[in-house]
Amino acid sequence: MLQKSGIYWGIYMKQANEIEHKENFDLLPYNTLRISSVADDVYFPSTKDEFVLLLSNLDNPLIIGKGSNLLLSSYGIKRPVIVTKHLNKVDIEPPVIEAEAGVPVSKLAEMALELKLHGFEFFSALPASLGGAVCMNAGANTQAVSDYFISAEVYDSIEDKVKTFSKEDMNFTYRNSALKNQDRYILLSAKFELLYGDDYTSIETLMRDNVEKRKEFQPSLKDPNIGCVFKNPVNENNYSAGQLLDMCNLKSCPVGGAMVYFRHANFIINFNNATSLDYLKLMKEMQNRVLEKFKIKLQPEVVYVGDNKNEAELWKSLTTK
Ligand SMILES: Cc1cc2nc3c(=O)[nH]c(=O)nc-3n(C[C@H](O)[C@H](O)[C@H](O)COP(=O)(O)OP(=O)(O)OC[C@H]3O[C@@H](n4cnc5c(N)ncnc54)[C@H](O)[C@@H]3O)c2cc1C
Repeated sequence: MLQKSGIYWGIYMKQANEIEHKENFDLLPYNTLRISSVADDVYFPSTKDEFVLLLSNLDNPLIIGKGSNLLLSSYGIKRPVIVTKHLNKVDIEPPVIEAEAGVPVSKLAEMALELKLHGFEFFSALPASLGGAVCMNAGANTQAVSDYFISAEVYDSIEDKVKTFSKEDMNFTYRNSALKNQDRYILLSAKFELLYGDDYTSIETLMRDNVEKRKEFQPSLKDPNIGCVFKNPVNENNYSAGQLLDMCNLKSCPVGGAMVYFRHANFIINFNNATSLDYLKLMKEMQNRVLEKFKIKLQPEVVYVGDNKNEAELWKSLTTK
C-alpha cells in the first residue's frame, strides 16, 4: 500500500509494482527474538533505487536490517516495513570498503580478513546488517562502527533527497548516531577506510576471540534474544549494566515467556513464546530493581516498535530519564 503520491510517481509506477511486497506478513523470521508480529505491508527492495523509491513514497516506514536489536510488538505493526536483506552490494578499493545497508556485517569482517585489513574484527560476532550497525553505532571490545567510518549515503525523508553524510554529520556517540530515533535519515550505504598492517593470522585470531569470548557468557541465537537490554550507565564505580543487574539477583528472573539469561543479567531471552509485553514488563522490573538499589535509571539499548497503548506507556516510562 503505497501512500504518498510523489511528483514522479507516475513514471516509477511500473518499477514500484515490481518491488517484492507482502501483506499481513509475520515478521518472525526478521527479528532474532523470534516474536510473532504481523505487519500490514512489508517491502523487500532489491536495489538502492528501489529502496529510495519506497522511502520517498511510504509514510514513516520502519527499516529492518537483521532485527537483532528490535523489539517488535506482538500486537502487530501498522507502519509500512522495509526489509533491507537484498541490498547486498559491496565495492572494494583497499583499504576502502563501501557497502549497501543490507550487507551482513559478519560478511564484511570475512572480506576484510581476506584483504588483511584491520578494523572490522568485532563485526564477526554481530548478527547485524550494516544499516542497523551504523544506526546503533554498534561496537564490541575496543572497536566501534565510528572508528573507521568515512561517509555514508543517506536518504533525508524531510527533504526527500539523497545526501552524503560525513563522520561529523553522523553525530556518533555510544550506541547512538544521527540515524537513531529520528525517523528522518535512512542509511543507503556506508564507506569505511580500514588499516593495513596486521597479518592474516592476527586478524583471524582477534575475530575468533570475539566469537569465543561471547560463547561463555552471552546467549547464542538458539536462545532468541536481541542483545544487551540496557546501555552501560555512567557511574562512579564504573559498573556495567550487567553487573548492576546481577547485583540485584536478576539472573533467571522470568515474566511470562521472557527470562533474564542465567549467565548474563543484561540479556533477556524468549524461552517460551514470549510476547513483547512480557519483555517490556521484565525490562521495567529490571530497571526498577537497579533504580531502587543504586539510584541509577538504566536506559534501553534495544528499540521497541509498536503502538499498543499499554506497551507504549511502559516504553515511555522506560525511556524517560
Ligand atoms: C546475540 C547478540 C549479540 C549482540 N552483540 C552486540 C554487541 O556486541 N555490540 C552491539 O553494539 N550490539 C550487539 N547486538 C545488538 C545488535 O546486533 C546491534 O544493535 C546491530 O547493530 C543491529 O543491527 P540490525 O541489522 O539487526 O538492526 P535492526 O535490529 O534491524 O534495527 C536496529 C535499528 O536500526 C534501524 N535501522 C536498520 N537499518 C537501517 C537503515 N538502513 N537506516 C537507518 N536505520 C536503520 C532500525 O530501524 C532500528 O531502529 C547484539 C545482538 C544479539 C542478538
